[in-house]
Amino acid sequence: MLYCSGLVLALFFFSHSKAQVDPCATTEKMVPIGTAGEEDMLRVYENIDATYMNKSGDALIFPTVVHIIHYGTIGDISDSQVVDGLRIVNEDFNRMNTDTSVTREYFKPFASAVGFKFVLAKLDSNGNPTSGIVRFDTSATPHPEPTDSDFNNVKFMSHWPAHMYYNIWLVISIQGGASGYAQYPGTNFTYGGPWETWGIVVKSNQWGTIGTSSADGRTGTHEVGHTFGLYHTFLSGTATCGSVCDTTGDEVCDTPPARYDNSYCYVTDNTCDNDTSGASSYLIDSIDQIENYMSYNSCQNMFTEGQSTRMRGFITSFPILQGLSSDSNLIATGLLPPLSVNEKAKGKKIRFSVYPNPGSGYFNVDIFGLGYEILYLTVCNSLGQEIMRLNKITNRSSSNYSFNLRSYPSGLYSVTLHTSTGVSSTTLIKE
Ligand SMILES: [Zn+2]
Repeated sequence: MLYCSGLVLALFFFSHSKAQVDPCATTEKMVPIGTAGEEDMLRVYENIDATYMNKSGDALIFPTVVHIIHYGTIGDISDSQVVDGLRIVNEDFNRMNTDTSVTREYFKPFASAVGFKFVLAKLDSNGNPTSGIVRFDTSATPHPEPTDSDFNNVKFMSHWPAHMYYNIWLVISIQGGASGYAQYPGTNFTYGGPWETWGIVVKSNQWGTIGTSSADGRTGTHEVGHTFGLYHTFLSGTATCGSVCDTTGDEVCDTPPARYDNSYCYVTDNTCDNDTSGASSYLIDSIDQIENYMSYNSCQNMFTEGQSTRMRGFITSFPILQGLSSDSNLIATGLLPPLSVNEKAKGKKIRFSVYPNPGSGYFNVDIFGLGYEILYLTVCNSLGQEIMRLNKITNRSSSNYSFNLRSYPSGLYSVTLHTSTGVSSTTLIKE
């Protein structure tokens, strides 16, 4: 039972930055509005029921690695500044920021504690201790446009597996002058791409509030929002202002449509007058939400409930993202202690493997280790519900168990082997 509930899903997606100095370089839409594909896909994700996504309880934890891309001493920021930048992002994603009182009363009912937490990994992918901070010395600087050959240059110089770590690259500069850019999850976006390059790129002098930074650190918050599927709140541009809130603009109905991408914070700004079109959360034409992290305004202090739902919807849609905050990955990255029941103390280590993983139909289970009796094996879905129980094996052959998940939905499943001396679990991805 305990091990059935161990699978916590989480995930991510794409990017840019705000801009009183340098705008976020991620374009408003990855494809032109009206182009089939992206918008429809986003809408589907948003509508997925994410009620089990632990919205108000413990945060979903994402093991994180920060790559400091420096050139000699230039841009070689301190570990303290890295930590301070994560502090800002985590405060903002949990509504723990110190300026929540600045949110205008009109928007306070919509403000959300998203519940994501980014924590520096303690183990690398080989199981060796790490600070979660790595440094790479190069004169290269990235370009924010996917069509440019320098788009992913620094990412390929230093990156950790995206199925285990959320990658953050802190760079000296970005060609064109942006403060940051990010990559949407999956490949169906102009600003999407392979998982190897999923994550955010932020200028190190915009990261955190100490050291070389004189900024508020919220370029990081903004870019992380993109990586989990958020668009700019001013996305609609000057032409339409977003005529239907759930299919145009940023496709989030509790962020009023806005026209401008400026950094000003005029509290009287109301740049679109069609706010109530579609499934709007507002009854009347509303002022612009200049306090939103996904605007370019310099007075940001909130995400909305609609944005939180959207981000969690994306997490449910990508198994690789779900796996990041799973118990098994938190153990693998050193953020959770190994299962105490893992029988090392008794000298009877339980080991087994499930393959193929990922897979789409039949899965095989090979069991290694001796000195214990195999009782049964359970398969649980991402809700922690036991969907299958395979009874005691009396004849241990090369492939001890097999089971079929063909009729079950794609996603993460946990497989737990119960033995006479304890249990051991692993996670599999059903495609
Ligand atoms: Zn942006």
